[in-house]
Amino acid sequence: MRDETDAGTSSCRPIAASRVVYSVVDDRRPFDAGPEAKNLDSGTSWNRNPGRSKSMKITDLRLRELQGTMEHADPFWEERLVRPQDIYPQYKKQGTPGNPRSLGGGRYEMRSTFLEIHTDEGVIGLSGPLDTHQAFIIDTKLRPILVGADPIAIETLWDQMYLSSIHGRKGENMMAISVVDCGLWDLKGKWLGQPVYRLLGGPSRDVIPAYASALGYSIEPEDVARRASEMVAQGYRGTKWFFRDGPADGPDGMKRNLKLAETLRASVGEDVDIMLDAWNSWDVPYSINMARRLAEYNVRWLEEPVLADKLESYKEIQRNSPILISGGEHEYTRWGFRYIVEHKAMDVLQPDIYWCGGISEAVKICNLASAFDLPVVPHGHSSYATAHLIASQSPSTCPVQEFLVKWNAVHQFFLKDPIVPRDGVIQVSWIDKPGLGLELDETKIETERDLSWRDPPQSL
Ligand SMILES: [Mg+2]
Repeated sequence: MRDETDAGTSSCRPIAASRVVYSVVDDRRPFDAGPEAKNLDSGTSWNRNPGRSKSMKITDLRLRELQGTMEHADPFWEERLVRPQDIYPQYKKQGTPGNPRSLGGGRYEMRSTFLEIHTDEGVIGLSGPLDTHQAFIIDTKLRPILVGADPIAIETLWDQMYLSSIHGRKGENMMAISVVDCGLWDLKGKWLGQPVYRLLGGPSRDVIPAYASALGYSIEPEDVARRASEMVAQGYRGTKWFFRDGPADGPDGMKRNLKLAETLRASVGEDVDIMLDAWNSWDVPYSINMARRLAEYNVRWLEEPVLADKLESYKEIQRNSPILISGGEHEYTRWGFRYIVEHKAMDVLQPDIYWCGGISEAVKICNLASAFDLPVVPHGHSSYATAHLIASQSPSTCPVQEFLVKWNAVHQFFLKDPIVPRDGVIQVSWIDKPGLGLELDETKIETERDLSWRDPPQSL
């Protein structure tokens, strides 16, 4: 590309500023690969791992919806968290989620969908669970990009899926890309016979500290005191709980929120971390007011006080809070997190690997965060994928893993070897298996079907 501003190499005649821009653009040419470039598939100078093809191809994607029955003391969900839509009375009065569906007598119907990525070498990548919206996107939109492609070229496939998603850079579409990315990493690890954390550069440690997240537990003070004490007795050195009230609930709601923090601190003692989550549901004045009051209970962080889009609000809360502000669970990709870290809008970043763009993107977010000295504590949708990521990162970047106690009972129900922290830690040896280590427990599957919206076309 010619530099028109350099008198020694450009035309001698003066060029107007606007002309310079056009001139530079006009001079752009694709980078020449040069005469030595050749199709890698036809080359013979690199590789080769004996016994492994250099041209493995994805042959099919299966979306297996599994159905089984879980036994659990009633009720499974004891309480729900505060939600942004609770400012409307008709939403505020809604109860706990109906999933999993109660069959009565302490039995619950479990339905989970897993993605299988099949190849012509017989290696299968497994990922999930995922929801039906993501399955639809994978089956209809991402399938043409993936079938026939080399599954080992994960970065390339991610880029192609992303560039094909102009309207899907965040939300369900990015969550679908995340599911595929995790499945490709599982496949790559199985193909190489290595756990993913090793492919990513770990292990950075032998054990990962875990904190217990109490989503779905009753927040009646006596219940909180009992459960929090049990968690400490189990070895956890941190626990996170979820507010039920917000600005629309007035002074009484604020008292209930503060009572939760007071009860927790009284129950766990001074040396155990307590964290509290407002799940996007507050506003700036309420958040700052609460943060100042929560400081009395030495709360480690206040999570997602406002909606993820409100970056200026996060900055204002963060500047005025005596306790750490965390968030990012509902943000996506390196570009979404770039603004958070550049503006120092949060103190702790919480991307979810199955939502933010997969393992590939979570690694980039960790790299970005480490450059700004910000810790990453991934949201705990998938304990396996999260453990692999954390085990590959510096302890200063990823110091601790979230373990959602009830959520994991649902999400790991169909897994043969679900991750459960012991003595408050996750042993890295637990995930020392090829790929991500996910394996379905076929004995728990009562019925199953393949989800598909193709041939004939179906719609959600
Ligand atoms: Mg959260």
